[in-house]
Amino acid sequence: MFLSVFDVFKIGIGPSSSHTMGPMSAAVRFLDMLRASADAAPAALRVRLHGSLAFTGKGHATDRAVLLGLLDYRPDNLDVDEAEERIAELWRTRRLHPAGLPAFDFDPEADLVFDFGPPLPGHANGLVFQALDRAGKVVLSEIFYSIGGGFVVTAAEREAPAAAFETECVGWPYPFHNAAAMLRMARESGASIAEMKRANEIVVRSAAEVDEKLGAVWAAMNGCIERGLSLDGQLPGSLKVKRRAKAIHQQLLRERGANSSLPHVASDWLAIYAMAVNEENAAGGRVVTAPTNGAAGVVPAVIRYYLDHCAGAEPAKVADFLLTAAAIGGLIKHNASISGAEAGCQGEVGSAAAMAAAGLCAVLGGTPEQVENAAEIALEHHLGMTCDPVAGLVQVPCIERNAIGATKAVAAASLALRGDGQHFMPLDNCIQAMRQTGEEMSTKFKETSLGGLAVNLPEC
Ligand code: SF4
Repeated sequence: MFLSVFDVFKIGIGPSSSHTMGPMSAAVRFLDMLRASADAAPAALRVRLHGSLAFTGKGHATDRAVLLGLLDYRPDNLDVDEAEERIAELWRTRRLHPAGLPAFDFDPEADLVFDFGPPLPGHANGLVFQALDRAGKVVLSEIFYSIGGGFVVTAAEREAPAAAFETECVGWPYPFHNAAAMLRMARESGASIAEMKRANEIVVRSAAEVDEKLGAVWAAMNGCIERGLSLDGQLPGSLKVKRRAKAIHQQLLRERGANSSLPHVASDWLAIYAMAVNEENAAGGRVVTAPTNGAAGVVPAVIRYYLDHCAGAEPAKVADFLLTAAAIGGLIKHNASISGAEAGCQGEVGSAAAMAAAGLCAVLGGTPEQVENAAEIALEHHLGMTCDPVAGLVQVPCIERNAIGATKAVAAASLALRGDGQHFMPLDNCIQAMRQTGEEMSTKFKETSLGGLAVNLPEC
C-alpha cells in the first residue's frame, strides 16, 4: 500500500496506535456498518479481543478505546473530559445510543471479553464485533485486525490479494516501492526524497493543504513535547512510574552554558524531548503516530534537536524532514511491518529511528544516497529488538527506548553524512532482514508481555 505522509503521521491519543487508536477506529467502523445495514437493528452488542489485544489490552487501555469508539469518538476528535463523563455514564446505564441507531444493551463488564485463547488467524491483534437481536441471534458480525500504526482492516480486506503496486500508484509521479527504486528515481529526476514525496502527495490534495497539514502535524508533535516537559507526577497504571522529562529538563536549563557541560549532554536533550512525548503517550494524552504511538517520541525529538541544537537550522525545513521520514516509514510498512505485535520493537522504535535518521540527514544537506544510508544504519542497529512491555503498559522499556532510539538516529545521520552514500548493506536488504526476524520471533516477544523484561521484574 502506498502511504501518504498523513497515514504515517496521524494525530490521535495514547497509549498505543495498535491497541488504542486501532480498536477505537474498529468500533467506529462497526457502528457505521450497523447504520448501513437495513435489517440489523441490534438489541445488544458483544466485543471479543484476541491475541496481543487480550494479553496487553488492559495495560494499553484497549477496553477504554473500544468504549470510546462505541460512543462514536474518533482518535482525532476526542474531547477527553467529555469522554470520561460519557464512559462513566455507560458503566452506570449499560446502554448505548449511537446517533442513527436505536438504543441497545452493552454491559462493559460482560460484553467486552479478553479472550486469552489462540490469536485469530489473520494477525496478532484481532477483534470480533457482534450485534444481536432480542432473541440473542447474531444479526451482524465482523472481524477486524489492528495491524499497527492505527491502521484497521476487516478480515476480508486482510485476505484480499493486494492490488499490484503499479495499479495502485497510477498517477503518482514517483511510485517507489523500495529504496532501490526511490534512489533510481531521485538520480533520474534530480529531485530529493522530500520533493518526490511531496509530488506524490499533491496528486490527492493541494500543495497548500499539504503544507497546512504538515504544519499541524509538527504543531501537535511539539505541543506534546511542551506538555510532557511541563508535567510531573506519576503515570497511570500499576507500575507507579514517575515522569522524569520535566525534572531533567530543569536540570539541563540550569546547567546551560556552564563550563562543566560535557558534549554528550546533547543526548540528554534528545532524551528528554522523546521522553516527554512518551510520558504523554503513556498518560493517554494527544500524540502523533510516528509511525506508531509506542515509538512516537523519536521523530519529534530529533526534529526538536535539529531546531534547537543544530546551527543554521531552518523551521521551514521541518516539512522536508517529515516528508523524508514518511517516505522511509512507508517503505518499511510496505515491505515489512511497523507493528510491535507483528515484528517486535524493531518494527516500532527501529522504524522510527530509521525515519528520524533519514529526516535529519536530509535537512542537514544529505544526498538521497546518504539519506538511505542513514535510515539503514539506524534500522540495522535495532534488528532483533523485542517488544516486552512490563505489565502491558507502554512505559517500561518504551519511554527510555524512544530516548535511546533518538540518539541512535542522530548518530546514524551523522555517520552517513561523513560518507558519500556508498555502503555495504542496502536499506532494502535490512528491511527484509527485519521482516524475516519478526516472522521468526517468538510470540512471547511480540507485545504479549509473556517474555523478556515483562517477566523479569525487580523484587520490591
Ligand atoms: S517495547 Fe517497543 S514495540 Fe513494545 S510497546 Fe514498547 S515501544 Fe511499542
